[in-house]
Amino acid sequence: MTNTASSAVTRFAPSPTGHLHLGGARTALFSWLLARHAGGRFHLRIEDTDKARSSHEITAAILEALTWLGITWDGEPVHQSLREDEHNRHIDRLLDEGKAYWCECTPEEVEAMRERARAEGRKPKYDLTCRERNLGPGENRVVRFKTPLTGKISYKDLVKGTITVDNTELDDMILRRPDGSPTYNLAVVVDDHDMGVTHVLRGEDHINNTLRQIHLYEALGFPVPAFAHVPLIHGPDKKKLSKRHGAQNILEYRSQGILPEALVNYLARLGWSHKDQEIFSVDELVELFNVDGLSSSAAAFDLEKLLWLNSHYIKESDVSRLADLLAEQFAARGITGCDRSTLEKIVPQYQPRAKTMAEMADEAAVFLIADEDVEYDEKAVRKVLTDEALSRLRDIRNLLADLDSFDESALERALNEHMERSGIGFKDIAQPIRVAVTGRTRSPGLFETLAILGKAKSLARIDRALSL
Ligand code: GLU
Repeated sequence: MTNTASSAVTRFAPSPTGHLHLGGARTALFSWLLARHAGGRFHLRIEDTDKARSSHEITAAILEALTWLGITWDGEPVHQSLREDEHNRHIDRLLDEGKAYWCECTPEEVEAMRERARAEGRKPKYDLTCRERNLGPGENRVVRFKTPLTGKISYKDLVKGTITVDNTELDDMILRRPDGSPTYNLAVVVDDHDMGVTHVLRGEDHINNTLRQIHLYEALGFPVPAFAHVPLIHGPDKKKLSKRHGAQNILEYRSQGILPEALVNYLARLGWSHKDQEIFSVDELVELFNVDGLSSSAAAFDLEKLLWLNSHYIKESDVSRLADLLAEQFAARGITGCDRSTLEKIVPQYQPRAKTMAEMADEAAVFLIADEDVEYDEKAVRKVLTDEALSRLRDIRNLLADLDSFDESALERALNEHMERSGIGFKDIAQPIRVAVTGRTRSPGLFETLAILGKAKSLARIDRALSL
């Protein structure tokens, strides 16, 4: 199998004009897996040639998102904007070899040619006016590539199979703009070659570029790499992925309390499969990844599945790591200074069912907020804190006040004795206490809830409930 030869060198080449989204992250992941599986190299290239729209902040955020996902690159990232001289050197070479030419047609003239072609039912293209004029450099001139006028261009895509197009379908593309800057297709080919890239994996929206790029590889005398184009990610409605359906900055998943391994597992399965396995550790992905498992049809984003995987990884994670993440979630809500041991007691209470760390923080915040900020759910109060329940709660308050130890087992012992003595059942005391100390009817186990709150907060909250 040649497509994952041990020499595989891949790259991810984001343009820092927009944040890293699911599609880009998945392209990066697949490229990374392809290289890691083969024991090869994975490079990062920042395609920052659009100076007006590129920003350092976005570049930094893309690197941060990749790092968060564990997609590590080899060597320093290459900045395409610093390689302009190299790109131009190769354009000059094509000019010298008669494979490219200067063109003085203005954009308006080219648009008019296209219009004419359209009107005559032909493919709208540049009409080759300057192709054989042997013009030299000059103001406002561009350099165009001499695309072969006959024959076909064909390659075998590792995902899409053989793709063939008549050369007459392709334009004499511009290689150098009037301001002297190289265009995308030329820059990418020179960079991929210089970086030793053997496998180019990217979104299928680049297939048209690939056909043009193969011509450039050949004209420049560079070996042509293997290409794998992955289908786009759709929303659940089969339309373009919208913000509501997941088209957001990858770092927003982090703030929403998604674990990186859940997102990596999710992205890996979005367009790649290995038998019917759903859960993959990163090590397994590296071991099993192969382009043969890539699907050639579009994948649809499914938030429920991502949340399902996230719950799985939350359950699997160790408490200390989740405590750190929970502290970050609390900090984002303005709740700071919670002590470590409380966090580590809270996490296991929510770990079996939390879908995200944000959800865990929302539900667990009640343990950390000031007692006077506990919001009592009106319905719960009406239903649970009846006169009878309040009178029982008074007794329990006094009993709790007398306890020396407030850990779970001491609480369990004391409350069990109390129930036996007064002939009341667990359900008679559990909900009233729960509503009193959390304001609502749903919380972790009763004894755990009281133990996490501690004596002072439990009593203060019961007192508040008694005076509602
Ligand atoms: N910079 C291009 C983009 O963000 C990717 C180019 C490539 O992968 O060749 O779409």
